Amino acid sequence: VIKIDHLGIAVRDLEAAIATYKTLGLAAEDVCEVPSERVRVAFLPIGESRLELLAPTSPDSPIARFLEKRKGLHHVCFLVDDLDAALADLKARGVALLDQQPRPGAFGSRVAFLHPSAGDGVLLELKEKAK
Ligand code: ZN
Repeated sequence: VIKIDHLGIAVRDLEAAIATYKTLGLAAEDVCEVPSERVRVAFLPIGESRLELLAPTSPDSPIARFLEKRKGLHHVCFLVDDLDAALADLKARGVALLDQQPRPGAFGSRVAFLHPSAGDGVLLELKEKAK
């Protein structure tokens, strides 16, 4: 693991959340839609790391289902050098994975989620460093 790439925060209204964080001095640098996850996301740089605001684009989005129960911190994302190697290593150590294979993330990235039990209740995402 290289560093914390970002913290994912579930929000109902992306524009309202961007405005809220703007008052804290954080500006959204990139906004994009991830159709496979049915979310729109905005990244707000903070030094070496970022916040990822995630808003659902459909009621069956995983983020919409999360927001039915609570809002706020949704996941923590670790940056790794080689996602395939990291998943193989975790699998070999018996770590519970939600994604057996990498899936497409925002901006053409490759990501995979671990089962929340692997993070002692925290949903962990792995993201491969851009080559
Ligand atoms: Zn994320």
